[in-house]
Amino acid sequence: MSGCIVGQCEVCGDHIFETDWDGPIMEEYYMFVHEKGCKKKFHDNRIIKQLKEDINRLRVENHELKSENKWLKKNGHVGQISLDLED
Ligand SMILES: [Zn+2]
Repeated sequence: MSGCIVGQCEVCGDHIFETDWDGPIMEEYYMFVHEKGCKKKFHDNRIIKQLKEDINRLRVENHELKSENKWLKKNGHVGQISLDLED
């Protein structure tokens, strides 16, 4: 650690010194993250966030399809619409 403080780490909240931050994360996300220690956690958090968003989206789609299936059954249609997870 040396030099000036350039920002605050997105992961641990501590100050980041100019020799201390991760370049690729800054280029990609415009966020300061400690190069040592916090970098892995930052990427893990991104993946978890993405997976949570995917799960929520699939939940909504599944719910919509269930409602649609209910409607189709009620109206005498035999076929079932299924969720295409490959999409
Ligand atoms: Zn940090």
